[in-house]
Parts: sequence; structure tokens; C-alpha cells
Amino acid sequence: METVLKSHCDEQHPHEAEDFHRKHEQNNKLSGIKKDIEKLYEAVPQLVNVFKIKEKIGEGTFSSVYLATAQLQTGYEEKMALKHLIPTSHPLRIAAELQCLTVAGGQDNVMGVKYCFRKNDHVVIVMPYLEHESFLDILNSLSFEEVREYMFNLFKALRRIHHFGIVHRDVKPSNFLYNRRLKEYALVDFGLAQGTPDTKIELLKTAQSEGQQEDSVHRSVQRSVFGERNFNVSSSTYQENSSTKLIKQSKMIDVSSRKLVTKKKIISTKTVSNGVARKAASGCPSNLTCDCYATDRVCSICLSRRQQVAPRAGTPGFRAPEVLTKCPTQTTAIDMWSAGIVFLSLLSGRYPFYKASDDLTALAQIMTVRGSKETIQAAKTFGKSVLCTQDVPAQNLRTLCEKLRGTNSSYTRSRGDTHTNSVNDLALPVDKQHAPKTRGKEIQHLQSCQEGDGALEIKATDMKGWDQVPDDAYDLLDKLLDLNPATRITAKEALLHPFFKDMRL
Ligand code: ADP
Ligand code: MG
Ligand code: ZN
Repeated sequence: METVLKSHCDEQHPHEAEDFHRKHEQNNKLSGIKKDIEKLYEAVPQLVNVFKIKEKIGEGTFSSVYLATAQLQTGYEEKMALKHLIPTSHPLRIAAELQCLTVAGGQDNVMGVKYCFRKNDHVVIVMPYLEHESFLDILNSLSFEEVREYMFNLFKALRRIHHFGIVHRDVKPSNFLYNRRLKEYALVDFGLAQGTPDTKIELLKTAQSEGQQEDSVHRSVQRSVFGERNFNVSSSTYQENSSTKLIKQSKMIDVSSRKLVTKKKIISTKTVSNGVARKAASGCPSNLTCDCYATDRVCSICLSRRQQVAPRAGTPGFRAPEVLTKCPTQTTAIDMWSAGIVFLSLLSGRYPFYKASDDLTALAQIMTVRGSKETIQAAKTFGKSVLCTQDVPAQNLRTLCEKLRGTNSSYTRSRGDTHTNSVNDLALPVDKQHAPKTRGKEIQHLQSCQEGDGALEIKATDMKGWDQVPDDAYDLLDKLLDLNPATRITAKEALLHPFFKDMRL
């Protein structure tokens, strides 16, 4: 009440106003959560007798997750996580998510499931609760050894699910729970998982095609990321048949013309089908040829083409190049790429590492680290041609990570910087003269940090192993961030990598 009165006072201190608003918002949020909990009890009344729902711990597009306690007969209260799926989820999707948890979960750092409740279209998955850290909060306090253990345990989880033919598709820190004190880990969230052709998860076989259909419809309505159009599925008369399916779509993706981090010019984006592929495509009506190929225009014919159907779920900054270029065949290797991005964050102290809102920007950002020639070359191996007018060299991973982490310079970054600096400020060659034209403001920010007074702040404190990162670490990172999915290291191989030589499986 006191705060309320104060807020009406004219000579109020600005901080108090902020405080008031924050508290006000918190209160609103709290009552919102209270209402959500009540609604959940109403929607699934079976929960009332079993659980005391305490708080909301996660809220995504497809679910809300709550912390609850269950009164055991022994008198002991056990903590559980209740995942309430949005009622519009496809039943097959829900069943597949559950099957991943029941078949592959409960072992090797893969989250298991305790119960599942349903009433009408409301489904609640009950899992053991694992208290976990916020990745961003701990990122810059982790010792190098903790990072090594973290990655080892992530690969353990990935080896397990990949063994079952599950492609997770959304590997990122918020889906890999980490309890630092107990050294416990759990891979969660099979909401986007898909099966490999030989998957052991029966429901992923059906969910695969369902999911893709759903995904493609969803995406084409929601956003046309590439502005890309598929030539041979251009009209309603198009019927999918095996012959058209076999045709490899070759796409030209002009990454350089994307709104990169360019200061000087914002160039238009352009993606066109490869002319050769057009002619090869049997479903392509001859009157639909156009002359915009390899020009910087997109003609009306191309604008009316439908998007290529390929699974593209996940989070842009963690997507593998073959996902970003919509390669139709995607394997468990896409999870290894995402694990590589997590590792890159851990080694560089930057999270998120790549902050891209769309796939083309994400691909351009990958190029700034892995090289444009290299990316183009790799894309060829999976049937995509990527166009890039500017040549960006690949970077040395150690140099990059050490620069960003500040372990080789006399500069300690303050916590506040971590989340604001993403890939846009990847200060490619940090050397000013060689800085590419495509850098954003933030790069200069990073430079000024490095050159500024911060230099004096360095203390001879415990480096937590960061002054002695072995080459093995960067060798493993290099193999995870292999642009070619066919040669990218697998989870099983990663566990046997020299980086983990003294660790027990
Ligand atoms: P979504 O599909 O909405 O992302 P997730 O399954 O990833 O749902 O859960 C969202 C969040 O809820 C997680 O990032 C995590 O913070 C929390 N969470 C999920 N499962 C558990 C669990 N078993 N124990 C503790 N927290 C959990
Ligand atoms: Mg999640
Ligand atoms: Zn055209």
C-alpha cells in the first residue's frame, strides 16, 4: 500500500517509479499465474487430488510448465514438473512426445515421465522435477572443467536419443536442464522431435509426415522466411508423386544480399530456384519459365511459387546449415550442430551466440565464423547452391573464442554485456583495418570495451581453467560445427573424442 501512495507523489524519485511499475507488473503476473493454475485444475480436475501446483516455471508457444508437489504415502513431498500442452496440439504430436519420454527417457540424462493426465483436449505430462540454472546466469562463472562435464553429459543424452532414431530438433540450453550443484542433467522437450527412417519410436513414423505437413502449412502462413518459392509445386493441380519427390531441388540463396549487419547499405534479399532444376522438375509447367534467375529481381511468377516443404522447426541460432537451406533430408546430425553452438557459447562466453530472426541471416552469420566459401562448398554436397557476393574467411575457433571471452586480452567483461552481444558483434577480424563492411554497431562496442578502461580491471584471480583450454576442445568444436552433415561428428564419436579421454561413459 505504501508503494501505491508513494507513486502518486509528485516529487517521486524516478527509481521509485520504476520500482512501483516493476512490482505492479509482478503482481499482475502473479495473479495471472494464479488464474492459470486455477484454470488448469478446472481443465484437468484429476490433478486436484494429487498435486499442489506451486508456480509456473516455463511458458512457451506450445506449453506451460508448472512446479508441483505430490504428497507421497510415505509422507514425503515429491517435486514434479507438470507440462500442460496447448489444447490445439495435434494428438499424434502429443503421443509422439510422450513416447519419446517413455521409451528413451529416464536414462542417460534424458528426462523421463511419471504420469500423464488427460481430460478432453487437455494433456498434462508429469515428469520428475529437476531444479536447474539459467544458462545466461551461470555462463560466465562456469569453470572450464564444468563446461567439459556439461558437454560430455549433453552428448550422453544425444547418443541415447539418436540410438532410438529420435532427432530432437531443438537442442539448446533451455531444453537441457543443468543442476550445477548436483551435477545432474536432463534433455527435455520432445515437442518438435522427428524420427529417422529407421526410428524405434513407432509414433514418430506417423508423426513425421503429419508434423511436416503441419509445419509447412504453419510456416507458409506465418512467415515466408526465404521468400523462396518452389517451382514444381506451384499450382493446385500439383500432385505429389514419387518421381517429383526424387528430384533434387537446387536453390540459389543469395545470402550476401541479406540485411546482414551492414551499416552502409541494406540490400534486398533474393532467393530463386536454379534454372537447371526448373527444367528438370517434371511438375513444372513450361509456360511458367521466367527470366529473373541470377538477377536481383524476383518476378511475379517466382513470387507466386509455393515454399519448399522441409522440416524447419527449432530456433534459428541453433539451426544447422542443412536446416537453414531447407534440405529435405535431415538427420540426427542437426542435433550435433546445435550442440556445437551450445559449446561455442560456453567457450566464448556469449549467449545467444547467433541471434538471427530468420534463416538467411542465420546462414550469413554462420559464414562469418565458418567461412563463405566453405559454406557454399558444403551446401553443394546436399544439393543447395548458395550465392554470396562477398567473400568472408573462416575464423580460427580458438582465436575467436578467446577474444570474445577475453581470456587472451587484458579485459574482463562485465555480466551485463553477455546477453547484449551476440553474433552481430562477432568482431570478425577484430583488427580494425580488416574489419568487414558488414559489421554492426555492436562490434565497435566490443572493440571499445577491449580497448577501454576495462583493461585495468584484470585480476590475477583464478582463471578457472580458461587460461589452459586444450586444442582438443577446439578440435571437437570444429567437428561439431562441420558444415557438412555427412561428415559431422556423431554423439557416440564425440564421447570418444580425446577431449573426454579421462571421463567414464
Ligand atoms: P516447451 O515446449 O514449451 O519449450 P519444455 O519441455 O522445453 O516446453 O519446458 C519448458 C521449460 O520448463 C524448460 O525450459 C524448463 O525450464 C522447465 N522444465 C521442463 N521440464 C522440466 C522438468 N522435468 N524439471 C524442471 N523443469 C522443467
Ligand atoms: Mg523447450
Ligand atoms: Zn522469376
